[in-house]
Amino acid sequence: MENKDIIRAFRLASSLMELHDENPFKIRSYTNAVAVLERLETPVAGLPADQLEQIEGIGKALAAKIVETAATGSFAELDQYLAATPPGVVEMLRIKGIGPKKIRAIWKDLGVETSEALLEACEKNELAALKGFGAKTQETIKNALLYNQESKGKALYAEVETLAYHLRDFLREKLQTDQVEVAGEIRRRLEIIQLISLVVASADPEPVQGIINSLPELEQDEIKSGPFSWRGRETTSGLALEFRIVPPAAYINELFRATGSEGHLTGLFSNTDCLLLVSRKEKYTSEEDIYASAGLAYVQPEMREGRNELLLAKENALPKLLTDDDLRGILHNHTTYSDGVNTLEQMAFYCREKGYDYLGICDHSKSAFYANGLPEFRIRDQHKEMDKLNRQLAPFRIFKGIESDILADGSLDYSDEVLATFDFVVASIHSNLKMDVVKATDRLVGAIQNPFTTILGHPTGRLLLRREGYPVDFKTVIDACAEYGVIIEINANPWRLDLDWRFVEYALSKGVLLSINPDAHSTEGYHDMRYGVLMGRKGGLTREMTFNAFSLEQVADHFEKRKQRATAMLAS
Ligand SMILES: [Zn+2]
Ligand SMILES: [Zn+2]
Repeated sequence: MENKDIIRAFRLASSLMELHDENPFKIRSYTNAVAVLERLETPVAGLPADQLEQIEGIGKALAAKIVETAATGSFAELDQYLAATPPGVVEMLRIKGIGPKKIRAIWKDLGVETSEALLEACEKNELAALKGFGAKTQETIKNALLYNQESKGKALYAEVETLAYHLRDFLREKLQTDQVEVAGEIRRRLEIIQLISLVVASADPEPVQGIINSLPELEQDEIKSGPFSWRGRETTSGLALEFRIVPPAAYINELFRATGSEGHLTGLFSNTDCLLLVSRKEKYTSEEDIYASAGLAYVQPEMREGRNELLLAKENALPKLLTDDDLRGILHNHTTYSDGVNTLEQMAFYCREKGYDYLGICDHSKSAFYANGLPEFRIRDQHKEMDKLNRQLAPFRIFKGIESDILADGSLDYSDEVLATFDFVVASIHSNLKMDVVKATDRLVGAIQNPFTTILGHPTGRLLLRREGYPVDFKTVIDACAEYGVIIEINANPWRLDLDWRFVEYALSKGVLLSINPDAHSTEGYHDMRYGVLMGRKGGLTREMTFNAFSLEQVADHFEKRKQRATAMLAS
C-alpha cells in the first residue's frame, strides 16, 4: 500500500465527518494528518506504530490508524462513518465543485441520496431554491454529474494498458502460442478506453474459455458470450472485456477486423471495395498482405481511425511515424523549486542517465502561488545552479525555461526583462478556467503573440475523465502558432494528452512544430513521454516535425534566434 492510498482513506474520513457535522477539532486532526502524510517522501506502510509516532505531526492515535489502514485498507472509525452514510451520498463526495456541507444540505433537506436523484433535482430546479445554493451552483453540479455519467465504464489508456498486455502474456503462456494479441481501442492507442479486446487463436475454444474463467478478477456475461467469444467485464476497473477465439488460420483476419475502427474497415478505398470485404476474401498470414491485396500501403494500427488514412495509403503517402528513440531531449519539467518532487540535480542526472542530450526545466511562475511559483529572486538562484550543473554535465545541457501562467488578459506574468533571462518559455493557463470559447481562444492567442512565448503548454487544460477542458477554437489557435512561430506541446501526462491527437494533422499542415513534453513533476514522470509519442503517432506526427527530436545544437539555435528576435522587438 502506498502513502497515497492511506491519504485517500484519511481524506474520505474527514469529508464524512464534515458531512455528519462533527466537531471541527476532530475533523482538523484528520486534515492535519493528510498534510503530514503528503509531505512524507518515505512509504509509511509496514512501519510499526512506535516508529510512526516519532514522525513529527503523527501522534499515538494517528499512528495506530495508519497501521490499521496499511493492513486492512481502512480503519474502524472510517468504517463506522461509511456504514452511517448511504452509498449514493458517499459517491456524491466525488462531485467536483461541491463540498461536504452542501452535500449534507442536499441529503438532509432535499432527501436526495443518489447521484441520479440529484441530477433529477437539478433538472427540476429544486437545488437552486435550496438555501445557500442558487442557479449557478446548481448548473455547476449538474454539469459535473453529466460529466461523471459520461465517464462511467471508461478508463485512461495508461490505466488499462498493463492489464491488457498481462492478459495477453498469460494466455500466450497457457496456450503455448504467440497468436494472442490485444486489439481494438488499446491497439489503436485511443486515449480513453471503453472495451478491452483480445484475439486468441485456438483450434479448441472450450478450454480457452475455461482458462479465462479461471481468472478471479474477470466476470463473464453469459448471455453476451458464445462458444467463440467470451464477453464480460474486469471487476476492479468495471471495464467491458472481450476475447474473440478463432481457429489459427483465421487469426490474422480476425485481429485485423478487431483492430480498425468501423470507419477504417468500411470506408471505401475504391468505388466498390472496403477493407472489411477484402478481409473476408481469403485467409491472410499477415496484416501487410491484407493491405497489399487491396493495393494499399500498410497502415499502422494507431492510424486506423477512418479519417484520411485510406486515401494516404492509396497514394502511398502515409507519414513515417515518430518513435520513442527519435526523441533527443525532454522539455517542460518541474523541480523542487516549484511543485516538483525531485531536485534540479536529480532531474538532470536522471535525464542524462536515460540517454537524452538536453533537459528543459520549466517550474511554475510567480502567480502560480498554489504550486509554489518562482518569484524573481528564486529564478536567479535557479539559474546559478543550472550554470553550475551545465559545467559539470557538459556536453549534456539544461535549458533555462519557465512555465509562465497566461493571465486572464492573455499576458504572461513576468516583465519582459525577466522573460528575457530564460532560454525558452512555455505559456500555459492554470487559473480562471471557466471561459467560453471566444474568451479562451483570445487568451491563448494573446499569449501566442507574446514574442517570448516559445511553446504553448497543454492548450485546453483538460484532465481526461476528470475535468473537461475549456472550449478552444483550435484552428484559430493553430493558425496563430503558425503565424508567430510558436511550438505546440503534446502534454504526455496520461491525464492530459493535450494537444488532442485529432488536431495534430491540422497543425502539421500549417507547418507548426509539436513538442512531446512529459510535464514531469518527478524523475518518474519522464516515463510518460511514451504516451505523448503514441498520441503524436495517432495524429501522423513525424520525427521531422517534433521539436524535441531536434539535436541539442538545433534546439539551442532555435531558442537563441527567438530570444534575439524578441529582445530586438522590445528595443524597437
Ligand atoms: Zn501546466
Ligand atoms: Zn507544467
